[in-house]
This record gives sequence, structure tokens and C-alpha cells, in this order.
Amino acid sequence: MNYDVIVIGSGPGGYVAAIRCAQLGMKTAIVEKYPTLGGTCLNVGCIPSKALLDSSEHYHNAAHTFKTHGINLSNLKVDLKQMITRKNDVVKQNTDGIQYLMKKNKIEVHQGVGSFVDKTTVKVTKDDGSSSDIQGKNIIVATGSKPSNLPFIKLDKDRVITSTEALNLKETPKHLVVIGGGVIGLELGSVYARLGAKVSVIEFMDSLIPTMDRTMGKELQKSLKKIGFEFFLKHKVTAVEKKGKEVTVKADNAKGETVEIKGDYVLVSIGRRPYTDGLNAEAAGLKLTDRGQIEVNDHLQTNVPNIYAIGDVVKGAMLAHKAEEEGVFVAETLVGQKPHINYNLIPGVVYTWPEVAAVGYTEEQLKEKGIKYKAGKFPFMASGRARASMDTDGLVKVLADAETDEILGVHMIGPRTADMIAEAVVAMEYRASAEDIARMSHAHPTYTEAFKEACLAATDNRALHI
Ligand code: FAD
Repeated sequence: MNYDVIVIGSGPGGYVAAIRCAQLGMKTAIVEKYPTLGGTCLNVGCIPSKALLDSSEHYHNAAHTFKTHGINLSNLKVDLKQMITRKNDVVKQNTDGIQYLMKKNKIEVHQGVGSFVDKTTVKVTKDDGSSSDIQGKNIIVATGSKPSNLPFIKLDKDRVITSTEALNLKETPKHLVVIGGGVIGLELGSVYARLGAKVSVIEFMDSLIPTMDRTMGKELQKSLKKIGFEFFLKHKVTAVEKKGKEVTVKADNAKGETVEIKGDYVLVSIGRRPYTDGLNAEAAGLKLTDRGQIEVNDHLQTNVPNIYAIGDVVKGAMLAHKAEEEGVFVAETLVGQKPHINYNLIPGVVYTWPEVAAVGYTEEQLKEKGIKYKAGKFPFMASGRARASMDTDGLVKVLADAETDEILGVHMIGPRTADMIAEAVVAMEYRASAEDIARMSHAHPTYTEAFKEACLAATDNRALHI
């Protein structure tokens, strides 16, 4: 079988690349080793985690805030089995949707592990061991990533687990110990904290979500403490031991003392590693970086000119929407178009409550680069909309160039900031100044007014409601 393009991996990078290739008239095949399409994101990542975050948020509100709203409930109970069933239904709707899109775009789906035979031939091996070879003029590798681990931790996938198992627990942990204070650990920790678990987070750095603007980590820590999180920052995990149903995590603090934290489940969420197992990249002559990523140039082309790589398996943020942009980029490059991705304007979101969302430079990065900036902040406590919904934690911070007033970074923690950040992305793509946003009408009452107010604060400190 001969194709113009073969895509290996059907996550958000791969399936989007395949759709765009087909739209542009290329005969396209996609190879996926799992029976369902959609990759990490749809099966064990973005979508199932958000389904559980939504369910647990409903429960938490019913248990803790409904009374203040004048709604009294009795016999409130969590049915975790049903919660997981609903999550699985949501996943199925989404993965079936990708199957439909492949059919609609006449993309041939080959189920099996794809491995290079040479730079134009991919062997597809099914679970039963049978295999067939397919040929592609161009090949796009989108094989994604898998959870990382520490060498001394034995993941038994029962009590010592990764995000994949955390999405399918049969009971709410009494005490969940989370190793790693990044996005995935805090999101999944939030799910179980809202359902009543004590959650202890152990983080090596001195801040949560350490790659984001420092204000965000500090504010998030305050909010999560209110729902039963405890934090061990600047702690280095040295051992994880399991005895029956009890798991003990040992960690050294900054003074060199060892602390022991005992729980019934440990979630290891220390990041993800690029995944190329089984790909037989050597047969195509592909170069990998020392971090195991597939090496690509600025056009996402590997050292073998007809092979491209995108998404989590290459450098850059491990995010679904980054992978999607790259999928479109490569498809359009293949037909001679000149696409562009502004990597500085790929937003990052943490779906805790309050949500954290950011785009552009952090305050720390601006200082490091020696760029003179002004900062405007607006707390949700001063927002009428946030008071009405009782979501007053958090703030919006706008960083603008000291001379030109161009917005250089926007950092938000608060209600629905995951959706609000889109306005900041649009503003920054069009190189708006803080003054531009400050002069635009924002519907009242909405959370988005906080962005306008932070822009007013950044331009001559003229926020109106604080
Ligand atoms: P993947 O989605 O990992 O897909 C790769 C696919 O390739 C897989 O289906 C795999 O089976 C297949 N494959 C691998 N090797 C082969 C082979 N040799 N042959 C055939 N098939 C192969 N990102 C966000 O932007 N927002 C979020 O809210 C978010 N939440 C997340 C929550 C969790 C719990 C996790 C784990 C991740 C989350 N992410 C989120 C990250 C997001 O899932 C990834 O960035 C995204 O899935 C990367 O897409 P990809 O296409 O590069 O790879």
C-alpha cells in the first residue's frame, strides 16, 4: 500500500496532522497501536482528567457551598464507580468521534505498532503478531510520551501509580501522596481531595507549578490548602516503600533531614518522557536527542528529509494544542505552504479550582532577559461576577513593556481562566498594548472584566474597581 503520508500515532498531534493532510489532497494513512484513536489526550489524559475534575467539583460544591446558596441536601454520597463510568463514556464519545473523522476524511487507519523498516517503509504489527508493510513518500512521527519515573520507584500500578491508574481508582484514597507539584499531580490530587482524601504533595523545587509565573504557584498553594492539601516543598524523594495497603514515601528536606509520609496510594507525577519504544527509529536513520526526543529543525523536519516529528515526542511544551498546531504546520509545509507557530504564545492551563492559565513571558523571565516592564494586577475578590459565584480566590496579572505598553505576558488564577486566557492570546498575537484592552468594552458582570481591570492597572494604575 502506497501513501503520500503515513502518520504514526493518533494523539492530538497525529490525528490532526492526518486530517489536514487529507484536506490538502494527500492520500493519508494513520497507524495506531491501541484499539482506540486519540492517544494519551483522549484516552488517559486531558479528556478523562477533565471529566473527573468536573464530577468531583460538582460533589465538592454540593458538600461545601450549596448550603450558602440556600440549597440543602441530605445523604450526599460519592458513587465513584458511576463517576468512572461517566468518565469512560466521555472518553468513548471522543475516541469514536476521531474514528468518524478518519472515515469522513478518507484516512486509512492501520491498527498495530508502527516500526520503520527504512525511511519510506513502515511495518505494522498487530497484537496477534501478524504484520504488513506500508509505504509513504512522507512520514510524520507523532508517538507522544509516557509517564516518567524515578529509578528507585517500583510502580506496581495498584498502590504506587501513575496518572493512568489514578483515572481508574476503585476507591477514594484516604491519604494520597503525590510526588511532583506540577500540573498533572495537582489536577488529579484535586479530584481526590474534593472527594474527601487527604492529599500530600512532595515537590523538589521551592514552588508549585514551578515553570509558571511564581505568583501563580503561591496563590494556588493557598487555595489548595483550603481543600485538604498539604505541601512539602524543597523535598527530594529518596524512597517509596509498600507494605500491604500502606505506602511510605521518604524525602529529604533542605536541611538534609528525612521525613516519612505514609498514605494508602502514591501518585508518581514527575513529568513525561518522549516515547519511541518499538518505533525502530534507527532503521530510518533518525537522530534522537540525549533526552530521547526525536531531533527536528525549525520546520519539524528530522535529519531524514521525508520524515517529520511533532507533539510530545519532540522538544517544547507537552500540550495537546501544541501538538495539534504542529500537526497542521507539517501538513501545510508538505504542500509548499509557509505556516508559522509562535511558540511563545501557546497558552498553558492548570485545571484545578481556581484554574491557572498563562501566556507569554513570566515576570521571572522578563527580569532574566533584562526587559523593562510594568505589572498590573486585579484580584477576583473585587469582581462582582466572582462574588456572585463565590469564586473570589485569585487574580489576573498583566505584564506590559515599560515603554511601548505591548502586552508581554498574562497570568491568571481564578474562575474559568482556562477559557479567559484565549482573549490574552488573541491580544498578544495582534501585539495589543495594555491600553488597547483597557479601552475595550467587556460585558458586565463577567470574569473577563478582571483582565480589562488588570490592563487598566498596568497603564497608569487606573483600575476602576479597586
Ligand atoms: P499522544 O497523545 O501521546 O499520542 C501518541 C499516540 O501514538 C498514542 O496513541 C500511542 O499509542 C501511539 N503510538 C506510540 N508509538 C506507536 C507506534 N510505534 N506505532 C503506533 N502507534 C504508536 N495537555 C493539554 O494540552 N491539556 C490538558 O488538559 C492535558 N491534560 C493531561 C492530563 C493527563 C493526566 C496527561 C497524562 C496528559 C495531559 N495533557 C494535557 C498532555 C497531552 O495529553 C499531551 O500533550 C498530548 O496527548 C500529546 O499529543 P501527541 O499527539 O504528541 O501524543
